[in-house]
Amino acid sequence: MTAPDKITLIVATRNAHKAAEIAAILPPRYEVRTLADYPEAPEVEETGSTFAANAELKACAISALLPGLVLADDSGLCVDALGGYPGVLSARYAGVHGNDAANNAKLLRELSHLGSTQPFTARFMCAMCVAEGGRRIAEFVGSVEGTITLSPRGEHGFGYDPLFVPQGGSLTMAELPAERKNAISHRSDALRRFCEWAEQ
Ligand code: IMP
Repeated sequence: MTAPDKITLIVATRNAHKAAEIAAILPPRYEVRTLADYPEAPEVEETGSTFAANAELKACAISALLPGLVLADDSGLCVDALGGYPGVLSARYAGVHGNDAANNAKLLRELSHLGSTQPFTARFMCAMCVAEGGRRIAEFVGSVEGTITLSPRGEHGFGYDPLFVPQGGSLTMAELPAERKNAISHRSDALRRFCEWAEQ
């Protein structure tokens, strides 16, 4: 039996957590590269008003500069009691891009003002866009439902994981080991659709 051919996929991110999750979720025949392998690649401004628009901006801009298949992930947390916020602003909710501690503190502050509307239902959303040569080829979305706990717990994962309790359990996403998060996450939901499309 011959080994299936490797497929090189450039994941348009400098977020090491996202990249590690994507590499772990994809089957081994995907050889994942990230923007850490292309330090000269520019930062793409996320000016879209939806996850899908931002994923497309990133995938198209990077694939216009680098050869091969590029996949971009735009994701975040949408809290119903906050009208869907932080949403596309998830990475910079508290003002500084990627400051997880400040973002989580702001989310807890906003929810504490609301008082008695618990449980705070929420979902992680993920939009993925695949592009080549600067053009969008396909798009996939994924989500996972849950609630927000006001007592952050857990050391795994990143971002809002210590605040998010996936539906059907009592542990936060950050209390789950990586394999369990990767089995249920918004990212794995979107990647499952990507794999179905790619294997057609
Ligand atoms: P992006 O880089 O613009 O897609 O923003 C992603 C942001 O959404 C991250 O910085 C986190 O704040 C949040 N986020 C996305 N996916 C996750 C996840 O799997 N766990 C926790 N937070 C996440």
